[in-house]
Amino acid sequence: MAQKFQTPSGMHDLFGKKTKYFDKIYEVVSNSARFYGFERIETPIIEDTKVFQRAVGNDTDIVEKEMYSFKTKGDDNVSLRPEGTAGVMRAYIENNMYTKPQPVKMFYFGPFFRYERSQAGRYRQFWQFGLEAIGKGCPTIDAQIISAVYGMLKDLGLKDVIVEVNSMGDSKCRGVYKGALKKYLKKVKLCPDCERRAVTNPLRVLDCKQCVEVKQNAPQIIDYLCKSCREDFKKTLEFLDEMNVVYDLNPFLVRGLDYYTGIVYEFFIKDEELPLALGGGGRYDGLSELLGGDERAASGVAMGVERIALAMEKMGVEIKEKKPQIFIAQLGDTAKKKCLRIFETFRKANIPVYESFGKDSLKSQLNQANKLNIRWAIIMGEEEAIKNSAVIRDMVTGSQDLVEIDDLLKEIKIRLKNKK
Ligand code: AMP
Repeated sequence: MAQKFQTPSGMHDLFGKKTKYFDKIYEVVSNSARFYGFERIETPIIEDTKVFQRAVGNDTDIVEKEMYSFKTKGDDNVSLRPEGTAGVMRAYIENNMYTKPQPVKMFYFGPFFRYERSQAGRYRQFWQFGLEAIGKGCPTIDAQIISAVYGMLKDLGLKDVIVEVNSMGDSKCRGVYKGALKKYLKKVKLCPDCERRAVTNPLRVLDCKQCVEVKQNAPQIIDYLCKSCREDFKKTLEFLDEMNVVYDLNPFLVRGLDYYTGIVYEFFIKDEELPLALGGGGRYDGLSELLGGDERAASGVAMGVERIALAMEKMGVEIKEKKPQIFIAQLGDTAKKKCLRIFETFRKANIPVYESFGKDSLKSQLNQANKLNIRWAIIMGEEEAIKNSAVIRDMVTGSQDLVEIDDLLKEIKIRLKNKK
């Protein structure tokens, strides 16, 4: 026997129930995003590696350890995208989108890749959707993005959603805070990685799972915000209050990526069994310049689709589907041919029907119709086929009517309309 294969570690096939959750998430996200004025953008799965090195930051876990990077046959250094914002900003600059009315609002929905240790809720290929508003920044836009995603999660049936919020200040006030944090970190015991980070990038220490206690007495960035950052943060929170978004202040929340400035936030479910963030975002006014553009305010969010699907499953969210109520059953070659045509008639009329053209036994087709809880079966044998007619059987009452093929659609429509 030839060798059998498995998906690469940390990657999964997407089918069955999972795709139903994914499809539902896409439906809710795309409808809502469009309502808020976001248009769809999909950037390539691979980009020049430098796009991520510059945007995400060379000393981040993502760039240091987690990227799938390789050289193409043409000697270009490229990477599978580990996140979406860098590519969208590259597209904004490359396509001169600053000539459009600002901000340009875009949303995406697709797969991303990080070479992480695979475990529950953490995969090497995972899906994210994201919203980005580039070209103008203000507390209203920040708050509207948070509120849009909050509403999407609610529309998907998730309960107890909470947003943790903090501000990372602008480059000036963050600089002053970093100095104070560095001073503090010199006095406390840190893990070996954080010993290094305390010098190169002290904010990362606040993100470290091993140095949790260090945070307790650390200086808080909120006390170091300049007047305008403090005002912006306050205004955003007031807007969130106005829109009934439930949030918690988390003075130590720092997003893992380098490009954030101003407000940052993460979405959680208040449930100990769902401890991982569903997603997060913030203001990233510094990114455009890092990618060769001019100064451009920007704000965005990225949400993990697998984690949202998992939360929906855990909360028992049912996906209602429009199940067909009609089954076409046939016996013999002439009937099969005519039924193929009938199937197309129903498709064009947008009335869903089941069929099992691969089966020849009428009994097994009707058994299948019963299992599917079908209300009406259209049955055509050789005799009906010759007479250009078919039987409509009510699978609940057992009553049957012989109907001409040309009247089938009309007769089924009447039954669907009058259904009790
Ligand atoms: P990040 O870009 O790291 O802020 O990620 C945003 C969201 O994407 C996270 O909150 C997760 O929901 C999801 N996510 C990030 N990395 C992974 C991963 N390796 N596996 C599954 N979901 C992920």
